[in-house]
Amino acid sequence: MAGVAYIGVGSNVGDAFENCLQGMRAVIDNERATFVALSSLYRTSPVSPVVQSDFLNCALKIAWRGTPRELLSFLQEVEAALGRDRGVRFGPRTLDLDILFFDDLVLDTPGLTIPHPRLHQRKFALVPCLEIDPGLVHPRFGRPLAEYLRELGDEQKIAPFGKVPADRIGSAKAGDAPEGGGG
Ligand code: ADP
Ligand code: MG
Repeated sequence: MAGVAYIGVGSNVGDAFENCLQGMRAVIDNERATFVALSSLYRTSPVSPVVQSDFLNCALKIAWRGTPRELLSFLQEVEAALGRDRGVRFGPRTLDLDILFFDDLVLDTPGLTIPHPRLHQRKFALVPCLEIDPGLVHPRFGRPLAEYLRELGDEQKIAPFGKVPADRIGSAKAGDAPEGGGG
């Protein structure tokens, strides 16, 4: 099985920018992954009752030669390899990699729900996906993602943080032209 996946990338511990970049580099480096597109980075307020720092979030679109389950296992390996404070065993996770979409697949299995069960309620997932493809439709509910975004109030804050040239995450290796004239 193979498909095109949107991966939600987030960090709010340590150097969030570097954590996101390194995480995406590790994803693109995998032989089963091919870069397709990358959104801007956004600074977002945490959607959580726990007081914590703002996040950096973005969405990475890849072609994946494997099953969704294999993609989840791989993303969890990347989280484990890069997502902990150096030297602190079982320290705080500094990188979150979620499967937001996998083609038009609708999947409910223990430990893996596709589309991601909360993405339509979260600006930090909706906005980067819509930047990549403004016409995206939620395959479970058949509704355009843009409608969910319009219905969310002002509570969740999201602000553009900047664009990452695609070659900074190693996509040039796969033969893609860097965005924005970088390189
Ligand atoms: P969250 O990303 O929701 O804040 P975690 O990253 O800790 O929380 O993920 C918790 C669990 O969510 C993971 O162990 C994973 O099995 C499960 N999960 C279910 N669906 C997905 C998905 N589409 N992408 C990533 N994880 C998922
Ligand atoms: Mg997660």
